[in-house]
Amino acid sequence: MRKIQMVDLVQQYQEIKPQIQESFSRILDSASFINGPEVAAFQKDLEQYLGVKHVIPCANGTDALQIAMMGLGLKPGDEVITADFTFAATVEVIALLQLTPVLVDVDPETFNIDPEAIKKAITPKTRAIVPVHLFGQCAPMEEILRIAEEHGLYVIEDNAQAIGANYQFSDGRVQKAGTLGHVGATSFFPSKNLGCYGDGGALFTNDDELAHTLRGIVNHGMYERYHHDVVGVNSRLDSLQAAVLRAKLPHLDRYCEKRRQAARYYNGAFGGHPLLTIPKTMRGCEGICPTCDCHVFHQYTLKVGGGRRDALADHLAASGIPFGIYYPIPLHLQKAYADPRYREADFGVTNQLCKEVISLPMHTELDEEQLDYITGAILGFMDR
Ligand SMILES: *Cc1c(COP(=O)(O)O)cnc(C)c1O
Repeated sequence: MRKIQMVDLVQQYQEIKPQIQESFSRILDSASFINGPEVAAFQKDLEQYLGVKHVIPCANGTDALQIAMMGLGLKPGDEVITADFTFAATVEVIALLQLTPVLVDVDPETFNIDPEAIKKAITPKTRAIVPVHLFGQCAPMEEILRIAEEHGLYVIEDNAQAIGANYQFSDGRVQKAGTLGHVGATSFFPSKNLGCYGDGGALFTNDDELAHTLRGIVNHGMYERYHHDVVGVNSRLDSLQAAVLRAKLPHLDRYCEKRRQAARYYNGAFGGHPLLTIPKTMRGCEGICPTCDCHVFHQYTLKVGGGRRDALADHLAASGIPFGIYYPIPLHLQKAYADPRYREADFGVTNQLCKEVISLPMHTELDEEQLDYITGAILGFMDR
C-alpha cells in the first residue's frame, strides 16, 4: 500500500507536469512575473467557471478577506458577525482592521454558522456577516441573505474551503459558492481544493463598482499610475501561481468528484455506527446527486462520541494514518479573540465540536486499498 498522506499533491502534479513545465518555462523566458498575461487569462477562466462577473486575484485568502472588508468601507467599531468554529484567518482580519468581531455558534450537524445565532447577535452597529463555507459545504446562504437584506448588512463569503461547490436555492436556482453574497473571498493555498504551488487568493463579485474599488485596493490604492486615491495594500497573484491554477482549473470538477468518492466510502463504512457521526450534507444527498454538488469535502470530518476522540487519534497515529483536529479550540476562547461579552452558554455547539471532531485523510489520490485500511483501523478501534 502507498503511504497514506493527509493531502497528497505529488501524484496530482505528475498528471499535469508537462503543462506546468511548459508554462513555467514560457514565463521564465518572458520574465513577466507580476501581472503578466497568465494572471489575466486565469482571471477570465475562473470568471467563466464560476459564472461571476468579476474575479480579482490577490496574494492569499487572508488578504482577500481583508480587502473585501476594506472595499466595502467597513470602519473601526463596525461589528462583523462570523462563526466561532473556523480557521483564525476569518476573525484575524476583522480585528486587524479594528472592526469588532462578533463570534456566534454553529450548527452541530453541518458545522456551519447558525442563522438563529446570527439574528440574536445583530445590533445597531452590525455591518456585515461573514459566513464560512466550512469543510467544503455552503453555509445556509438563503437564510443568511434574507437576514442580511432585512437588516441592511453586507455578506462576505469566506470560500477558502468550498471552491467548486454548488448552492441550491429553494426555488431550484443553482449558483457557485463564493458568488452568492456581495463579495466572496477564496484561498489557493496548496492544500485547498484548487491550490497553487505557493500562496494565492482571489475575490469574486458581481458588483461592477465594488470590483473597481477592489482592483485598486490590491494595488496600493492606485486607479491611475502613481495616483493613490485610497489606502491600499500590495496583494498580487504572481504569474507562476496563475499558470498552475490555469492548468488545474479544468480538472476541478473531477477533483471534487474524487473527494466525494472518498467521502462516500467513508460514509458507507461509518454511517449508522453508534459512536460515529458522519458529516451531514444540507440537502441530504451526500453531495452525489447530479443537480446538487453541494459538498466538495475540503475536509471529511467525523464526530466521535463516548469521549473517545483523543484515544482514536492516538490509535490512528500508531497505525500510520494521518488525521487533523479542525479545530481544537473555539475562537472565542483564544487569547487574541476573547471578549468579556461572550457567554459560554452561547457556544455550546462549538465547545462540544472541538472535543469530538476528527478529520480523515482527504484528497484526490486516495485509493480503495488505503480507504479500506483507514476505515478498518477506525472501526476496529471503535468496536473494541
Ligand atoms: C485557508 C483559509 C483561509 C486563509 O487562506 P490563506 O490563503 O492561507 O491566507 C481563510 N479562511 C479559511 C476558512 C481557510 O480555510
